[in-house]
This record gives sequence, structure tokens and C-alpha cells, in this order.
Amino acid sequence: MFESLPVAKADPILSLTVAFRQDTRPNKVDLGIGVYRDALGKTPIMKSVSAAQEYLFAQQESKGYVGLAGNESFNIAMQTLLLNNTNAMARAATIQTPGASGGLRLLADLIKQAKPNATVWLSDPSYVNHHPIMEAAGLNVAYYPYFDAQTKQVKEQAMLECLAGLGSDDVVLLHGCCHNPTGADLSKQAWQQIAQLAPKCGFLPFIDIAYQGFGDGLDEDAYGLRLLSEVCDEMLITASCSKNFGLYRERTGMACVISPSIEQAQNAKANLMSLSRKTYTMPPDWGAACVAHILGTERLTANWREELDVMNQRILSLRTTLRDALNQATNSNRFDYIALHKGMFSVTGLTPKQIDCLRDDHAIYMVGDGRMNIAGLLEADVQQVVEAFVAVGA
Ligand code: PMP
Repeated sequence: MFESLPVAKADPILSLTVAFRQDTRPNKVDLGIGVYRDALGKTPIMKSVSAAQEYLFAQQESKGYVGLAGNESFNIAMQTLLLNNTNAMARAATIQTPGASGGLRLLADLIKQAKPNATVWLSDPSYVNHHPIMEAAGLNVAYYPYFDAQTKQVKEQAMLECLAGLGSDDVVLLHGCCHNPTGADLSKQAWQQIAQLAPKCGFLPFIDIAYQGFGDGLDEDAYGLRLLSEVCDEMLITASCSKNFGLYRERTGMACVISPSIEQAQNAKANLMSLSRKTYTMPPDWGAACVAHILGTERLTANWREELDVMNQRILSLRTTLRDALNQATNSNRFDYIALHKGMFSVTGLTPKQIDCLRDDHAIYMVGDGRMNIAGLLEADVQQVVEAFVAVGA
């Protein structure tokens, strides 16, 4: 039966991780997969998460099923973290999903059910898995202009002109903050213009926020989605706890539907629950139970916010160190963009040939599209990275 299967394409980021593990060179540097590393090169369990785990170990008495929507305390806590006091809270419904990846797929399936001919517009470029997930749900995929390779900033004018031409069959997928892969985020003014265009043109905003707290702060990073949620009758959101709670392998995320009325939102949630029933049925419990406990306990929430801040400060300091070292080594200011970008990544503009050379000759691993995971860098590796960039003519 399976001999007719096509040869499966390897995921470019996950296969890079395998190649990195197999590399025996002692000076190897992993700037590939999007995980945060601390000053020791570890991806630690956050202390607030450890405390929540201890609490759960002591309290949990059953491994009975949690239900199709997952942990409802988690759902409400996450919805509040995203929407805070906006009026959209009163007309939003949320389901727990296996990571934001699960949320993306469930919401894509929901769009397909509601509007089979819808086109989902992605930023050019976008997170590597957006296109495959939307396509797997049977949706049309198109791209709006986003990244200016020259300035390394967002082509806001071109993007807004493109969005102005869209209508009610269109869904616009926007990164809430800390754009993956580019690191270039929308300005407040651009969000304000999108907030005018969406209700006027009738396209549906779909926000993917996987790095809340890694940009300018938890509330600041939700600026765009909160603004849109106030003015749009309908909106979709998926969020991830992989990075800001460090729960990567626990597969913790959510999908939220905002509708004109709470009844419609609840009905959309019921549809999401039947969609999850026929795929994985229920999301895993542990990560969401930890997040619900942290966000439901004042002291732990404060601890978690402090830990997140420390991670963020570390990335910011790496960004300035790298910018200064590269500018100095090249006697230029062409690496200024590194400190202007937000979140874990920056697109460097290096060519596939330069990236191959970095890996083969300098043991530095980066994704083929030129994305560099700055949150994976160690201070001690900065010099090696700078010398290698200069050697390949970056
Ligand atoms: N969306 C974006 C923009 C991402 O970068 C990622 C990967 N971290 C995801 C979604 C998927 O995240 P998760 O681990 O929660 O499935």
C-alpha cells in the first residue's frame, strides 16, 4: 500500500537540529531552531513552572479526561492575558490546543467549514509552517508584501495597499508580535491602519501570537490584536505557551474566536470542539494545568513575569552586543537592524551559499532562509559568529 507514497520532504528547521546534534565539532553554534537558551546554553524549566509542577504533583488526584475544550481555567486565563479589558472579552470563546500549531490547524479547519473558498493571506515571508497548515486544511494561500530585504524593515505601505484590495472571502494572518522569521514588526501606525481597513474591506484578521512578552512587554506585544479586537466584529487568535512559559514539549496553546455575540462565539467554540474530536480529541493536560496555576496565583504570576523579563533582557543585550561587534568588524552600520528587530529572530539576508559556508567551514548553523535565532547565541560565541560573518562576506 505505501510503496506509492511520495518521498516525504524533511522540515528545514527540524532537520537542521538533527544535523547539529550529529556534528562533532566542539565549537559548533546553533542559531537554527527557535528555542531560548540561557547564559549556560540551556533551555531551562522556568522556576514558576517548576513550582506549578510541584503543586500539581501534590494536588492532582486523577488522570481522567479533561474534556474537548481542555482546561477551562487555562482558556480564560490565556484569553485575559491576550485581550485584557477590551470589550472583545465579552464576545470571545477559547479552546485549549496542542501548541499554537494545533490552534492554527483547528482555526484553519473552522475557516474551511465556514467559507470553503476563503484565501488566507500570509506575510512574505512567514513562519515556515503557516503555508503547509493552511494548505492541509484545503484553503487557498496567498502572500501580502511584508519584509524589505534592503532596509530589513516592514514594507508597510505596500502591505497596506495590498490589504486595501481584499474583501470578505479573505483572511489575513498577522503575527501578533516578534515576527517569525524576520524579527521586523509592524509599527503602531500600521496596526491602526489595519484596524481601519479590516472592518471597511471585510477581511477577517487571524492573529498568531507565539512570542507575547518577548518584544516590548506582555501588554505592549498585544497592542495590535487588542486594537483590532475592539473594532472587528470577527477575529481569530492562536497563541503559544512554548516560548513565554518555556513549555515547548508540553504542547500548550490556544485558539480563540471573537464574534459579534457571545452566542456566536460559543457556537464557533463548539465547532472547534467537534473538529478536535475527530483529530486528536483532547489536548494534553500538563502544560495547560501549569499555566492555569501560574496565572491563577498572584505570587507565581509575578515570578513568571520577572523570569520572562530576564529572558527578554538577555535577548536585548545579545542583540546590542552582536550589532556593535558586527558594525565594528565591518566598519559600517549595516547591522543596526539587529537591535531594531523584536523577539528571538532576525533575517540576515545571507544567501543559501553563505549559510552553507557558515555551517561547513565555521560550524555555525542557521536556517536556509537566513533566519538567525539570536536567543540561541551565547556571549562566548559572539566573536566566532562575527569572524565567520566577515569571512563569508556578510
Ligand atoms: N506560530 C509561530 C509564529 C511560531 O513561530 C511557532 C513556533 N514557535 C508556532 C506558531 C507554533 O508554536 P507551538 O510550539 O505552540 O506549536
